[in-house]
Amino acid sequence: MGLLQGKVCLVTGASRGIGAATVKRFAEEGGIVYANARSPKNLDDVCTLMSEKYHTIVKAVYFDVRDEAGARKAVAQIRKETGRIDVLVNNAGVMKDALIGMISKNLMQEIYETNVFGVMNMIQLASKVMMFQKSGSIINLSSIVGIEGNPGQLVYSATKGAVAAMTKTAAKELASQGIRVNAIAPGMIDTDMVRSIGEEKMIEHLRNIRMGRLGTPEEVADAIVFLASDLSRYITGVILGVNGGATV
Ligand code: NAP
Repeated sequence: MGLLQGKVCLVTGASRGIGAATVKRFAEEGGIVYANARSPKNLDDVCTLMSEKYHTIVKAVYFDVRDEAGARKAVAQIRKETGRIDVLVNNAGVMKDALIGMISKNLMQEIYETNVFGVMNMIQLASKVMMFQKSGSIINLSSIVGIEGNPGQLVYSATKGAVAAMTKTAAKELASQGIRVNAIAPGMIDTDMVRSIGEEKMIEHLRNIRMGRLGTPEEVADAIVFLASDLSRYITGVILGVNGGATV
């Protein structure tokens, strides 16, 4: 029996990086996984392959987390097909840097719409289903920079700080309904997002990581599996750092 055997899980932003690794780990643990991407057909083949390999159901659901109607439709579809949602992973996120003085209103809006409003919207939609069943686990992707800050990331760090704050509020508000809400705050994880900062900055950041290397998407996915599963059944409102010792 896997750690997520039979649990219905929705992972946003699953086309690559941490989201893709999470879908794979969830399927390995026996979860019934809905993998979200915004480009239609993008995940069809990989979902079919994973369903066969792990003897479970892995299915793509296509919507942009900024599109409230699209997200609502997807949640309704999952509820219709399975009757429940046990796990929601709010992973979809965008990172764009700009120094203070160079930040446009458009940039603020773009990042907030995905990283903050998208997450709030998904929490509302999924928790309604979870309240009905009186159980559920929501895992949000915050970031080390949402707690520690980082030059050039005024907007991005603020959105990730907002994710940490909303995780704690949602945990307090939803605990009585049997719903746990936790966040992961990754450090530097080897994905497209981190590679986009360039080699020079990457080397500078590596100096602050005690373990001396970037993390892998799979290492974050393992922490997400823990928070999704009943192994963490008495844990809520926690912001779990997965950062190779970057904050010690
Ligand atoms: P990534 O490789 O850039 O992947 C981001 C994923 O989010 C992609 O699948 C992307 O889809 C999806 N996405 C973006 N906007 C979306 C939208 N509006 N609707 C639906 N999907 C959307 O990023 P990552 O490194 O795996 O990061 C995953 C999460 O961890 C993010 O929330 C990020 O902020 C957080 N995080 C990452 C790190 C790190 O070091 N990598 C550190 C701290 C926190 P497309 O393929 O369509 O673009």
